[in-house]
Amino acid sequence: MGYAAYVYIGRFCVPMIRGDPDALGSRALAIVFLVIFSIFYLMMIWTYEKAIITPPGFAKDHVPRSVQPLFSQPPPVAPLDGIVGHQYEASIPTFPLPTDTSPSTRSGTGRTHRTNTRSSLTHATSPPMPPPLPRTHSQRSHHSAPATHSSQGVPDDIHAPPVSVSSPYESSENTNERMTPTTHEPRRRRRDSNEDGLPPLMYSRHPRTTPILLPEYRYCQRDQLVKPTRAHHCRACGTCVLKYDHHCPWIGQCVGARNEKFFMNFLEWAVICCSWLFSTLLGLNVKAHGDIDPQHIVIIALSGLFLLFCAAMLISHFRLILLNQTTVESLRSQYMKEREDRVLSRLHHWWEFRAKHRTKKQWDSEWGRIDYEGNIWSLGSLRANWEAVMGQKWYEWILPIGRSSGDGLSYPVNPRFDQQGRWRRRIEWPKELQGT
Ligand SMILES: [Zn+2]
Ligand SMILES: [Zn+2]
Repeated sequence: MGYAAYVYIGRFCVPMIRGDPDALGSRALAIVFLVIFSIFYLMMIWTYEKAIITPPGFAKDHVPRSVQPLFSQPPPVAPLDGIVGHQYEASIPTFPLPTDTSPSTRSGTGRTHRTNTRSSLTHATSPPMPPPLPRTHSQRSHHSAPATHSSQGVPDDIHAPPVSVSSPYESSENTNERMTPTTHEPRRRRRDSNEDGLPPLMYSRHPRTTPILLPEYRYCQRDQLVKPTRAHHCRACGTCVLKYDHHCPWIGQCVGARNEKFFMNFLEWAVICCSWLFSTLLGLNVKAHGDIDPQHIVIIALSGLFLLFCAAMLISHFRLILLNQTTVESLRSQYMKEREDRVLSRLHHWWEFRAKHRTKKQWDSEWGRIDYEGNIWSLGSLRANWEAVMGQKWYEWILPIGRSSGDGLSYPVNPRFDQQGRWRRRIEWPKELQGT
């Protein structure tokens, strides 16, 4: 930033104001450029400084240490990937259930056959794994419960044996899924018949069933506390960060509940400032006839590079704030959509775009849309989501003043979710929401 200011003022504007022979424009133009640049530049510095000095908020400052809560109910069948629930895409109603859930086979080796393409994503974003299920609850008692649907997640490769499951999450049945999927059966087109001796697959939307609002699912082993909702542990900071979005090396700390707004303000002004630097320097140098100052070229390249980077960040965070999602949460919904796309490609031939669209619409009418009704933190409207982070007044949206609403520790839950944080079907929503 300092170097850009030096080149822009000292080697671009000042020669024009002095009327040097190699100046690229008139004195009046230089003064206008200088004034506008100074405003943009100071705004960028101000917002950057606010984003750097405002901590994101840390769980340990608000939550006392505690022992790990016991699981009050068997954890749901393993999230194959650590990001999103298991049997999202298909369930096999008549397939035998795994019965061996002894600790030795639940040590995580079962993940090996799930060689899905998301593994790299998993490492970057998966929340800490809950420990193996305490043996306090009776496995047997759950055997007697009516299994409304056997929800053995089908791995990406539908032909792989679907039930050699053995991750710490997995229990042999899913009695804690109180929702009974009324699995609808779109026209089956291919690969889902009995050709491999597998039973026909039932396709539906299967959101993740992890009861994320229960304290036992939010325990941080490293900090030894129950994380507030939306908090995650940052390895770089070594502690749990409220409404963890990502660790940003450019501001040297995490982006979280308390500084997300300032981070967004900084991105806005960084994009404006880089655009100004890039376009004015490039514009006048292109028209120039004499020698070009190589330091102008350096700043054109740097500002162009940062413009691309910051604009991409700005657009993605603009969307995230409108949806009321963090980067971590958006990866979950992203993964859900990708899995759904794979299900659709099994249901329909690749050219049947309209049929795929119809099936998706059908799921949406049954459940609501993934990013809106299916987002547990959505406040119901884009405007409400935006104002919750960026403030009520328009000037708060661009100036690094004010703060996000809420304390960063608790967030209102979308009424389309149950008390434990599981997405419910439309028919289970509060009556007044069902028609929306
Ligand atoms: Zn932690
Ligand atoms: Zn961090």
